[in-house]
Amino acid sequence: MIPTAETEVAKSEEVERKPLSRRMFVGAAALAGAGLFGTQAVAQTRQEQLAGRKGNSASDPGPENKGLLEMNPSANMPPFTDHGNPGPIWYSFDLAPKRVQAGGWTHQVTQRELPPSRDLAGVNMRLTSGSFRELHWHTANEWAIMLSGKARVSVMQPDGKMFLDDVETGDLWYFPAGYPHSIQGLGEDGCEFLLVFDEGAFSEDDTFLLSEFVAHTSPEIIEKNMGWTRGQFDELPPTELYIFEAPLPDSLEAEKRFLGANLETENKYTFKMAAMTPTKKTAGGEARIVDSTVFPVSKGIAAAMVTIRPGGIREMHWHPNVSEWQYWIKGKGRMTVVTTGATARTMDFNANDVGYVPSMAGHSIENTGTEDLVFLEMFKTDRYQDVSLNQWIARMPDKMAQAHLKLATAAIRKAPQEKNVLLPR
Ligand code: MN
Ligand code: MN
Repeated sequence: MIPTAETEVAKSEEVERKPLSRRMFVGAAALAGAGLFGTQAVAQTRQEQLAGRKGNSASDPGPENKGLLEMNPSANMPPFTDHGNPGPIWYSFDLAPKRVQAGGWTHQVTQRELPPSRDLAGVNMRLTSGSFRELHWHTANEWAIMLSGKARVSVMQPDGKMFLDDVETGDLWYFPAGYPHSIQGLGEDGCEFLLVFDEGAFSEDDTFLLSEFVAHTSPEIIEKNMGWTRGQFDELPPTELYIFEAPLPDSLEAEKRFLGANLETENKYTFKMAAMTPTKKTAGGEARIVDSTVFPVSKGIAAAMVTIRPGGIREMHWHPNVSEWQYWIKGKGRMTVVTTGATARTMDFNANDVGYVPSMAGHSIENTGTEDLVFLEMFKTDRYQDVSLNQWIARMPDKMAQAHLKLATAAIRKAPQEKNVLLPR
């Protein structure tokens, strides 16, 4: 849950009443976190050596944006293990301006907001009850997850066969590039969903629209193509509808009856992700992995929905095939990304934030809150792949491991011997 402005103020006042400055408090928290990497004594020595954070060094007597510091303390006061600048790894939908129209809104986090993210872009959209995202298609493949509420979706294949379904919270859909599709809010309060596109520079304002195709074709062609008269042409929408209000549709059964033999049954464009049995489950949490091996139409985008219990971690790993784009659904966490040239960056994440990990870069995520952390790992690939650091170390012969890690074999072999995805086991 995102703390309210009121709780933020209360918390920062509480900190200010303490003898230590607020910044000293954050520095101490970073120091405590450093204990995870070795004994506290060693961490403090290295901290002092590397960061010069002795005594009053980290104090900040000038202005501070206390709200930002509370939400993301690691951004401003990194753990001493961070080094250099691997580029941005964080953005938030709550900084992205909403385009609001009668019937809902949309906003996006793309390469324009998070420049290194060239593979994937995200759009967050709301449709009130009955409202449509206008019928359209686009150059990117579209992967989506319902975050709240219910929608009716449809898509037509180039062979004319239709797919029609209703999706609820935790359900996915996947529409290949160029396939025309629709999304309509259902129920009392419509829905909110996340769309992920396999083009970093994708823009939701730049799609092919039904209204614009007909509005910008001459009335003579429209008459020859559809048989609609010039008078009827003048009644067509003169400009885009994009998001607009409409009556609720008939029942799914009735619309399926209308489509009859034109209904596509061999390809399924929706998938129940939240309801599926976890692919991996440990004491530290659960992962649900959905790629084209379980959701065959999803050829361009793979996903993992990860739940981390309080205190648990997504183990140190990397993806050998592609960059990672994340959407944080619930809870609080902290991610460290370590890439080439000894650069490392740690950021804190909250619900509705976006994370980015460069292709192949090592990373780990810790639940820093008191409730389950849930986030999505998204990849521009047909096949999910990850490499576990623990599993690799376990497969190094003793002398090889010892030569590199400078630890006794007994200590090295205390580490988990397999890929656990989530720790503790
Ligand atoms: Mn679309
Ligand atoms: Mn990952």
